[in-house]
Amino acid sequence: MKRLFTLAALCFLFQTSLLAQKKNDQGFRDYTNAVLWQQHSGELRALTFQAYNFARLSLLEQLKTADTTKRNAVVVDIDETVLDNSPFQGKELQKGRSYSQTDWEDWTSKGLADTIPGALGFLKFAARFNVEVFYVSNRLTSEAAGTLMNLQRFDFPNADAEHLLLNSGTSDKEPRRQKIREHYNILLLCGDNLSDLSNVFYRENKNTKEEVDRAWQMFGTKFIVFPNPMYGDWEKQFYQGKDLKEKEKAGQRLKALKTY
Ligand SMILES: [Mg+2]
Repeated sequence: MKRLFTLAALCFLFQTSLLAQKKNDQGFRDYTNAVLWQQHSGELRALTFQAYNFARLSLLEQLKTADTTKRNAVVVDIDETVLDNSPFQGKELQKGRSYSQTDWEDWTSKGLADTIPGALGFLKFAARFNVEVFYVSNRLTSEAAGTLMNLQRFDFPNADAEHLLLNSGTSDKEPRRQKIREHYNILLLCGDNLSDLSNVFYRENKNTKEEVDRAWQMFGTKFIVFPNPMYGDWEKQFYQGKDLKEKEKAGQRLKALKTY
């Protein structure tokens, strides 16, 4: 019996090391800590409540001086701003993958994402002041049905096709923001990625840090930013537009570390 147990234990260890080897071969990217922080830290919740509390105060301020010839709107990103996709990231990690588009679309089609703390309360607050919500997201237009189902499940305001502006060929959100501006004052923009707010941060080949510093008064007033250590445009600077394997990316990340 003891022998059998030892054999089973050895088999388990062998399989585990094989799995680890397989993960390394694929260039497995370990961002477990980032996903765990997003899922389990009180700080994530506190920060998103903080951001949406600022959004409420700011909305009231902006309403005082808004152009009365147009309707009022807030623009929100969806992923990691309104909906929490960390279970998808967790599943990918469990499978030893960095990201698979097929898996992503499978996840969004289920419409099962939970809300980001504070999001629903803020958007309902905005609706009480006749402020409409536009959901500007780089989910694909083919993901519209699952996305609307997800938003409607929580009774998010303006969860309809007219207010959902998805990626129909370009991830550049500026043309969609301009389209909204034709008929609305955009009082606030909310997002976990600076590109959700303006193109100056990543899309105009400017120095991101300098642009963020230049715009410092906008954060918490016109721009409401959410924490997301799992993924984002911030990471692209390490790869300089090259199509690198996960292993090479890991090397670039190590090179970018600041030390003393
Ligand atoms: Mg996002």
